[in-house]
Amino acid sequence: MAIRNIVKDGDPVLTKRCRPVEQFDDRLGQLIDDMIETLKKAKGVGLAAPQVGILRRLFIIDMGDRVIEAINPEIVKASGKQRDVEGCLSCPNRWGYVTRPKHCVLRAYNRKGEQYELKLSDIDARCACHEYDHLEGQLFLRLVDEFVTMEEA
Ligand code: ZN
Repeated sequence: MAIRNIVKDGDPVLTKRCRPVEQFDDRLGQLIDDMIETLKKAKGVGLAAPQVGILRRLFIIDMGDRVIEAINPEIVKASGKQRDVEGCLSCPNRWGYVTRPKHCVLRAYNRKGEQYELKLSDIDARCACHEYDHLEGQLFLRLVDEFVTMEEA
């Protein structure tokens, strides 16, 4: 496994729409393993492939006890609303309030090419929507209704 460089806001790779993953092979598994290691090192919650410079439809979310790998994901249902502070590993030190669905259903493939559906709520639903937007070339900044200043940890 290897730590990959996280692309920062301003890089055009973050504004492009990603293409579907077509090959479920060892190379894909390697990319996912690298993304997991990169996410853990950065102490983030979610990471999308374009954030490591790969324009493919893939993201991961660290749920604490396990990591979800979502390949060619779709948000097939969304309901409710939640407004909370959000940040992004590609936008260091920028935080702001974003309104997202409170619940959603994620449909995606795992690295073996098996399709699954997962019901997500609260921070997990927020994270899935945030990561999905990366695959469409969109950053959370455009959704912020109020920026906030956070103390450095
Ligand atoms: Zn992000």
